Amino acid sequence: MKQVWPPKLSETLGGLQPSMTLAITSKAKAMLAAGADVVAMSAGEPDFDTPQHIKDAAVRALAAGQTKYTPASGLPALREAVAEKMLRENGVPCEAQQVVVAPGAKFSVFSAIAVLCEPGDEVLLPTPCWLSYAEMVRAAGAVVVPVPTTAENGFCARPEDIAAQVSGRTKLLVLNTPSNPTGGVWPKAALEAVGRLAVEHGFAVLADEIYEKLVYDGLEHVSLASLGEDVREHTITVNGFSKAFAMTGWRLGYSVSPPWIASRIAALQSHTTSNATSFAQAGALAALQGPREPVETMRRAFESRRDRIYELLSGIPRLRVARPQGAFYIFPDIRDTGLDSMTFAQRALEEVGVAVIPGKPFGADTNIRLSYACGMEAIEKACARLAQFCAGL
Ligand code: PMP
Ligand code: GLU
Repeated sequence: MKQVWPPKLSETLGGLQPSMTLAITSKAKAMLAAGADVVAMSAGEPDFDTPQHIKDAAVRALAAGQTKYTPASGLPALREAVAEKMLRENGVPCEAQQVVVAPGAKFSVFSAIAVLCEPGDEVLLPTPCWLSYAEMVRAAGAVVVPVPTTAENGFCARPEDIAAQVSGRTKLLVLNTPSNPTGGVWPKAALEAVGRLAVEHGFAVLADEIYEKLVYDGLEHVSLASLGEDVREHTITVNGFSKAFAMTGWRLGYSVSPPWIASRIAALQSHTTSNATSFAQAGALAALQGPREPVETMRRAFESRRDRIYELLSGIPRLRVARPQGAFYIFPDIRDTGLDSMTFAQRALEEVGVAVIPGKPFGADTNIRLSYACGMEAIEKACARLAQFCAGL
């Protein structure tokens, strides 16, 4: 029997909406390219170029003919280098087999959720959080259980609030420190509490540490998986090269997980994307083995931009601004403007040419996200324009 054409499309994976961060970022870039007077505070990517020694390594690999498939989980030398880095910089002992190199940390997050979760499972999301987590959880057929956080608590979930949401179906909690979109950094005590809850109740934690190098005020990033062997057995750490090394376009990330999870992630990847780009992996190896000064130089630049944007936005009467301590985002509360976040973002772009991301897809319609991964001049200009915009409301 002939079926109706076109057919019903998949509601699970195929029903995903486009990522709003990527959509607004491309729109702002296109407007700029067309000569529009726009200040783009939307892009979640460093404005710096990739450090030269990393580019050189990739160019050398390409010239040397490293143009073939690598093992699906990554070059053995790179997996080894990630394992060494995890021990040296994060205090997380692991074997190279536990490392799966992926085409972007985004795919590592997706793979971890996909291999762990099935329909009916519940996933705890401290909210506001990066917009892709909830979509990926839904794509796996699992249920999002938000754990609200507040600016007063540094956007870090309180153990009692997490505990209140744990049920017999809780499979996973996704933790992102430093956080996109809030810039919040989870203190060690809060991470210890999460680790204890995970072990006690038997759920896994996906620790997305992609912004680990971007912490300010002398704070130190703490890896959940460093907090003891029992916690490590429950933790999938995700990290990547996009933010620390300014390598967003290279598409390189990795996960580090207990062997029984890592093998499933490796299998999924072997049937979906295969390996991350061969010569890009050579660049990543150079990033891990080479000088770290460029990373620290970029961190310092982000810290002074954080200081300036916080100062300027705090001076705008209708915005309530929490001081971020990590990543390169600031997340002002706009409720005193009387606008919801979608309207605010749309009108700010149309009326004063400032591109920001609405908080709604992050789970906070009372906020907007500004990325300060741009020059000081852009920060000054955007804040002056937003002051004018808010005053005119
Ligand atoms: N996690 C978070 C919190 C992010 O903001 C991003 C943004 N790109 C990613 C993961 C994915 O990074 P990538 O795929 O570029 O490695
Ligand atoms: N993570 C960045 C952001 O939030 C890049 C875009 C994306 O992958 O979401 O803007």
